[in-house]
Amino acid sequence: MITLKEALTKSAEELAILRQELEAKAKESGLNAYVGFESSGEGVPILIKDNIQVKDWSVTSGSKILQGYIAPYEATAVKNLKAKGMMAFGRANMDEFAMGSTTESSCYGPTKNPYGEERVPGGSSGGSAAAVAGGIAIAALGSDTGGSIRQPAAYCGCVGMKPTYGRVSRFGLASYASSLDQIGPITQNVEDAAILYDAIKGHDDKDSTSADFEIEDIANNLNPDVKLTIAVIDSYVEAADADIQKAFADTVAKLEAAGHTIVRREMSNTKYDIATYYILATAEAATNLARYDGVRYGTRAESKTTEELFYNTRSEGFGEEVKRRILLGNFVLSSGYYDAYYVKAQKVRHLIRDEYNKIFEDADLILSPVAPSVAPKIGALHDPLEMYKSDMYTLGVNLAGLPGISLPVGKNSEGMPIGLQLIAKAFDEKTLFNGAASME
Ligand code: GLN
Repeated sequence: MITLKEALTKSAEELAILRQELEAKAKESGLNAYVGFESSGEGVPILIKDNIQVKDWSVTSGSKILQGYIAPYEATAVKNLKAKGMMAFGRANMDEFAMGSTTESSCYGPTKNPYGEERVPGGSSGGSAAAVAGGIAIAALGSDTGGSIRQPAAYCGCVGMKPTYGRVSRFGLASYASSLDQIGPITQNVEDAAILYDAIKGHDDKDSTSADFEIEDIANNLNPDVKLTIAVIDSYVEAADADIQKAFADTVAKLEAAGHTIVRREMSNTKYDIATYYILATAEAATNLARYDGVRYGTRAESKTTEELFYNTRSEGFGEEVKRRILLGNFVLSSGYYDAYYVKAQKVRHLIRDEYNKIFEDADLILSPVAPSVAPKIGALHDPLEMYKSDMYTLGVNLAGLPGISLPVGKNSEGMPIGLQLIAKAFDEKTLFNGAASME
């Protein structure tokens, strides 16, 4: 597949042919990465995760409850990429409402991993990553609330980048956990990720959490020769499978050989990431998903009374994982438990962020695994707690609001891709991308 950079030099006619080829190949592939082939705008086709609004498209967040909903407006990220020679083409499969780590909770059925069709592509942006890795998308947008860009990119051997919270407008992204959600690129290489990130980033009056200062473009000034101080947390890495640990050690050796300085650091709060995240994310989700009541959006269930309308629509429209999260979220927000869980988790979130910031006092980047294993088999993570545990390396970045990028560093003995992530301090995407470019 041609890269995003190359595609941006093609004529309108060449791009029209390319789009037809992509659609034909996607339909043939059997990956179930696309859930629609809508197109909007002109230029290089970018695959859009099914929770990002493109005006006049059916946008469903992978959920039955949004069948029939047509987006009446456009996400700012989409508007921005259209101004840079790109267009929205195709909707990518995802876990329902971005809740999941495997893309198995989609109402359209699971997406398959191009490196092994019995494996998941990761999630929740599994359709985006599988399509880029499978040669049926040039580049894609995903969203990352607790790893949903970086983890599928790692499972599928492509590059996935989560911007600093506030750097990319969330306007038009279906909210899962508003204090954690960010839109970001999934691409074939680091330079393409920088091009797509440059295109979508920037202040937006329509998102009150959008950072109100601009940062220079990155793609044109990428410097793979920078020498950086990179922190590694040995005790943290020890929880990963042996093949991940080996890839980690090999990468550290390569970074040192390339002239970077490796410093060993400790972090003691990472053990709280999963509990903190799953309290805060479910609390926010329970609140955000209250709007799907059968009145305003999508499908409406048969009912005689208004109460029945809410009840039936939500019972029939939401899948099992989404219902579980709404129950959990309402539980931690309910009186009697609010202080014990929700308020406590907010406090711990600050401690988690402070610990990252302490490391960035004398390190430019942190190198960490993205997931404790390679892509699991479809159906293997049926226990929700096991699935939540597999998010252990990605959640902290969202809780702390930091930028992170996941990069392929090799394959295990079964040929499954292994990805590692670099993490930078807030709004230091420049160093993040330079570090990533130096690893390619
Ligand atoms: N797996 C995590 C969850 O289910 C992260 C999902 C995401 O980043 N959207 O919440």
